[in-house]
Amino acid sequence: MHQNTQRTNIIKKSLYITLVLILLAVISLLIVSIFQVLVRGYEPAVIDSHITPTPTPIPALMATPKPVPTPEPAPDSGVLPTPEPTPEVLQTFGLADRKSRIDPTLPMVALTFDDGPGRFTNQVLDILEQHDVVATFYVIGEQVGRYKDTVLRAFEMGSEIANHTWSHRALNRISAESIYQQLKDTSDIIESVTGALPTSMRPPWGLSNANVLRISKDLNMSVLFWSLDSSDYLNRSPDRIYDSIMEEVKDKDIILLHDTYERTLETIERLIPDLIDRGFQLVTVSELMYFSDIELEPGKSYSHGR
Ligand SMILES: [Zn+2]
Repeated sequence: MHQNTQRTNIIKKSLYITLVLILLAVISLLIVSIFQVLVRGYEPAVIDSHITPTPTPIPALMATPKPVPTPEPAPDSGVLPTPEPTPEVLQTFGLADRKSRIDPTLPMVALTFDDGPGRFTNQVLDILEQHDVVATFYVIGEQVGRYKDTVLRAFEMGSEIANHTWSHRALNRISAESIYQQLKDTSDIIESVTGALPTSMRPPWGLSNANVLRISKDLNMSVLFWSLDSSDYLNRSPDRIYDSIMEEVKDKDIILLHDTYERTLETIERLIPDLIDRGFQLVTVSELMYFSDIELEPGKSYSHGR
């Protein structure tokens, strides 16, 4: 019995010592771990704010950047890389491709379509697309919402979307505040549909004044008239409209048309291929000015590229 008690005591003692040792080991491990975590946690802050300040760029090093190898021109530079086509990329490529095909030394004209978008606009776009050409659309703001897809289609085809006021008001007969609202609201809805603000406006019936010029300047738009009036708004036959244009057309003309009449649609079915046959390149108003070395300035008015 006594021996047993002694043995039990020894076992208890050794157990106790073992437990204490284990406990000490665990505590020391914990202390080491906590210390490591603390040190690691503070390191970046210490380095960032005190020990190594943000290196000041050395001018000498900046002046001699790593030489970037000049890319060898592709053997066939006509072939563009084809990344995943997004509408934006397609448009950029389409424009780049078309612009590179425009010869500034050859005749060019800009067809402009006023008073849309409307029920004939999509068919106008079909004809433009069929001949791989573009035009400029002076749109009425309050009609854009109903024809968003058409306006976006025109824009993505590379045509230009420009401002023809919100509700086709005679701008010379309304207040400066109303002129501003007519133009601002239209530019806003064009931007909401295409993502781009228009760079030119055309006053309805060509009725302008000093306020129109000043407000157009404030809204970053040039004022665009025309040099050849198709008079398609008069009740004339498509043949007569066609003849009057073909008789008068000159290099760098801006041609006034309306995408609101069926007769205009019938006219351009013949007019566009025949203008191309006569050697005219069909471009947007902005392109016409660009290739004519005319800088479009906001608030200034233009009627041709000569
Ligand atoms: Zn108009």
